[in-house]
Amino acid sequence: MLRFDGQTVVITGAGGGLGKTYALFFASRGANVVVNDLGASTNGEGNSSKAADVVVEQIKAAGGKAVANYDSVENGDRIIKTALDAFGAVHILINNAGILRDVSFKNMKDADWDLIMLVHLKGAYRTTKAAWPVFRKQKFGRIINTASAAGLYGSFGQANYSTAKLGLVGFTETLAKEGEKYNIYANVIAPMAASRMTETIMTEDILRALQPDKVVPLVAYLTHAETQETNGIYEVGAGFVAKLRWERSSGAIFKTDDSFTPASILNRWTEIEDFTNAQYPSGPNDFLGLLESAKDMPSNPQ
Ligand code: NAD
Repeated sequence: MLRFDGQTVVITGAGGGLGKTYALFFASRGANVVVNDLGASTNGEGNSSKAADVVVEQIKAAGGKAVANYDSVENGDRIIKTALDAFGAVHILINNAGILRDVSFKNMKDADWDLIMLVHLKGAYRTTKAAWPVFRKQKFGRIINTASAAGLYGSFGQANYSTAKLGLVGFTETLAKEGEKYNIYANVIAPMAASRMTETIMTEDILRALQPDKVVPLVAYLTHAETQETNGIYEVGAGFVAKLRWERSSGAIFKTDDSFTPASILNRWTEIEDFTNAQYPSGPNDFLGLLESAKDMPSNPQ
């Protein structure tokens, strides 16, 4: 059994939905849990301490250790401070808080865009920024960021949300690269779960299969001290767990003289789109290596 005794876990948006199931699980496996929740509505309005309090009470009633924090994630440093004040440490950070401002792009207002960026991107940035020096100093940290299939693939009416969610993938990939030598591992999940976020857009049958606790095992595995996984992107829900990676066609390399014209692109379009011998790049330098082979090429056919 993977346990988390002595570990302090900060979970944002843990007053309901996925965050609550994470909080109950980690506490049941011996962790100290910071239950952060602003108590906002799904579209980010209002605030209440009740959501976090209820979860903390439930954990304590079961003999676990937890404290509440009611700050918005945009003040993520205060959430980390709560962990340090209460437990003297933070080992695991789960950036989970989230809201929706779904509207067609045509009707999207600046406020819909800005609030989504603030909660998802700035929020994850602020908590991570505050936890990072602690992680570096103790040479241990585990981070889970929460993306979405909407970010990976696009989703009607969610231009703001999908932008922020894919931003969290890039954020995670860079944290993973910068953190690895300090034993700070970062992974990102695109969950699928029944919650107030999804209950209005899915049928009852589907919602029954998508219980939020079915996301917990992957999150727990990825944050455990034994885990060596970092820089991963996972889709998870209803008992399905899969890893994603970037795929690039083997592409076409062009001589970059005057023959590099739009017509030369047209001539080799099939090659550009051909994924038969796909590559799986893992960083910007993979691209630069390809350029070596272009040096002695003849001009491009027109
Ligand atoms: P949820 O609405 O049940 O939970 C989100 C929690 O975040 C709420 O308790 C809310 O009060 C809290 N919150 C909102 N704004 C906050 C802020 N500024 N500061 C602190 N807390 C705040 O939704 P959920 O389905 O459990 O979603 C959890 C995460 O998973 C979100 O990031 C969401 O975008 C993501 N997600 C969920 C699904 C799904 O199928 N449920 C799919 C893809 C991504």
